[in-house]
Amino acid sequence: MARPTFQAAPGTRDLFSPTTDRWRAFTEIFAEEATRAGFGQVALPMFEDVGVFTRLGEASDVVSKELYDFRDKGDRHIALRPEFTASVCRAFAENRQLIPWKAWYAGPAFRYDKPQKGRYRQFEQVGAEVIGSHDPDLDTELIALAVRFYERLGLNDVTLLLNTLGDKADRPGYLDALRTHFESNLDALSEQSRVTLETNPLRVLDSKRPPDAELIAAAPLITDHLSDDAAAAFERVTSGLDSLGIAYTLAPRLVRGLDYYTRTTFEFTSGSLDAAQNAVGGGGRYDGLVSDLGGPDEPGVGFALGIDRTLLACDAAGVFAEPDTTVDVWVVATTGGLDGLAIADELRRGGLSVDRSFDHRSMKAQMKAANRSGAPVAVIVGADEADADTVSVRPLLDDRDQVVVPRAEMLATIKELLPS
Ligand code: AMP
Repeated sequence: MARPTFQAAPGTRDLFSPTTDRWRAFTEIFAEEATRAGFGQVALPMFEDVGVFTRLGEASDVVSKELYDFRDKGDRHIALRPEFTASVCRAFAENRQLIPWKAWYAGPAFRYDKPQKGRYRQFEQVGAEVIGSHDPDLDTELIALAVRFYERLGLNDVTLLLNTLGDKADRPGYLDALRTHFESNLDALSEQSRVTLETNPLRVLDSKRPPDAELIAAAPLITDHLSDDAAAAFERVTSGLDSLGIAYTLAPRLVRGLDYYTRTTFEFTSGSLDAAQNAVGGGGRYDGLVSDLGGPDEPGVGFALGIDRTLLACDAAGVFAEPDTTVDVWVVATTGGLDGLAIADELRRGGLSVDRSFDHRSMKAQMKAANRSGAPVAVIVGADEADADTVSVRPLLDDRDQVVVPRAEMLATIKELLPS
């Protein structure tokens, strides 16, 4: 086939049905779980003033390297959102909501990343955030929301990695300890990590580069630098998870890709994915972010799950298959009149899913299409039926006989034939 004139940009994809039906089902299940947990949906712009995201911390790759930013025609410096949390905080700062404000969202995010399987430049997330409460039980509830959602998908190979990054006041002592540790072993550190060390020693812990592994494993732990309050909050989260029977792995060196986290941080990894791209979701507390974005000093906590990657994990685990999009009825009409149109409309209004052939195809061609569609029932209208104001109803998937019924009984007859 000749190469098309245009192709989707690197790192973006076209998705078709039934893949798109599966994506919609994913989001609908998430919406149901979030609604059950008292969250309302928030719909946010896909682009913001670049400052909304640069406040997230210049030391993270998401901000320093991966932002899709540009000047618009009004010379505003704009960026496509690389994630939702900053926009949620900006929206809260701008339009105060009753607290605790519990919001869920779904939609695309954009990062200028190196495209590969499980890593795209446009990808989709669902997520949930709570602004306005310090209660660590909310951290637990959010984690539970994600875990129960994975359970509903049938994805059982997800590991919850759990850490606390302490409070802002705990940070300088820990950063000093980290800096001392890495600086005294500078030769063993990778070139890039040496640069990261200067801007943010915490981020060195996030390095996946092999030479750094040994030093990271021996690095000081935040748990030795926690305030009593932060330690008690973390203890409350772990006992909450224990009480709900939610398993977790303590990961004292887990730092997330963005710099705004305080206290509880967590990541979900899937055992079905390659280690380099096995994070299917993550989140944590960000107690200073709303005020950093010009809002009131309200704490926040939330998570985001990547749809693309979670579905790859579902594929690998053989769960959460594409939904069945086969129609209930195929209409075969050979009268040349408007019967096909009218019958399809009537059956759809009666609650059935219906499709049919177009272009005045022959009876044989239309029956072939009906069989190929997988629909369990065909409704047939030829000249005889049209004259007698009847239709023929033919089961297609078993050997039950075709019946001729008055048009007025069509819907009821089909409903009886359909598998419940
Ligand atoms: P993060 O805020 O980076 O932890 O992202 C949350 C989740 O979004 C990750 O766990 C991934 O599942 C997903 N994600 C992040 N970046 C990408 C990407 N470039 N392509 C696909 N999914 C991504």
